[in-house]
Amino acid sequence: MELFGALYGNEKLKSTAASDLLRGKHSHAYIIEGPEGSGRHTAARLIAQSVLCNRDSDERFPCGTCLSCRKIADGICTDVIYVNRGKAASIGIDAMRELKSSLTYAPVESEYKIYIIEDADKMTVQAQNSLLLSLEEPPSFVVFILICKDSSLLLETVRSRAQTVRMQLFSASEILRYLEENPLKKSKCDPSSAAASCGGAIGKAVSLIEGESSDELKDAALCLESLPLLLSKSLTDRLSLVKSFPAKRDDAVRFLKTLTNAVRDLVAVKRAPECELLFFADRKRAEELAAKTDLAKLVSLSQAISSSVEKISANVSIQPVLTLLVSYK
Ligand SMILES: [Zn+2]
Repeated sequence: MELFGALYGNEKLKSTAASDLLRGKHSHAYIIEGPEGSGRHTAARLIAQSVLCNRDSDERFPCGTCLSCRKIADGICTDVIYVNRGKAASIGIDAMRELKSSLTYAPVESEYKIYIIEDADKMTVQAQNSLLLSLEEPPSFVVFILICKDSSLLLETVRSRAQTVRMQLFSASEILRYLEENPLKKSKCDPSSAAASCGGAIGKAVSLIEGESSDELKDAALCLESLPLLLSKSLTDRLSLVKSFPAKRDDAVRFLKTLTNAVRDLVAVKRAPECELLFFADRKRAEELAAKTDLAKLVSLSQAISSSVEKISANVSIQPVLTLLVSYK
């Protein structure tokens, strides 16, 4: 039987949460953690379907074909309630009050009611404290699913009352294989650029291919273009790069994060030749670049990039920070 069939990889999730669900056991609260595009929303939907599935077939679980499964997939199941921050920066106490006022009403068409809280790490402390009481003693027919990027932003008391599911990140070569096995109809860029630009998140790679975001692709191309000079022994060569780096704060931070993944790969091929790579789908290219310099220099470059990200995010002027970055020792 296929567990969580629509979810690529994530074997640990399938062997724990999914197999518990198959045996009719579910937790009353889940935290699903991972970066954007890592399949968190798919996992939340699959958990909701598994709790409410009426099993039409024994081939896979959830079956995907019974009425509950179909309604959840279409987003029209009245017992699966989404809570999100809309355009607000955070989820405040008012949203929690609203949630709690509906909590005690029994489900309408199913055995359970499932609350999916998106961007749960954007709940204010008051909102989390308010939710906590419901997490401690939820009605027997309620299941909470909290989706977040970083569960460490949730209160320890909230975390300790839920089962945490971490979404798996994939190596660039695994993503490339996935994209080749599951070709998309509209393709705005080639799969290897998408695999290099998505930071290990399959959903992100798919949205890049579908042309929903092109900044990341430009960043990846600029990384590949800049790395030979950035690894050069000549300071003049490296300084010549500064003018080609993004000049706007958000663009510079996003670019440097992509560069972090690329340099991390170069450190990885030096340290552990068999390790998986996040940025380079073409391992040979990573090895060639890594061969241009030594491990100590790569580590120093990696530290220079992360301190630059911190400084630029903290509003320090961009040009001097980038100049200091390329002058790494
Ligand atoms: Zn079903």
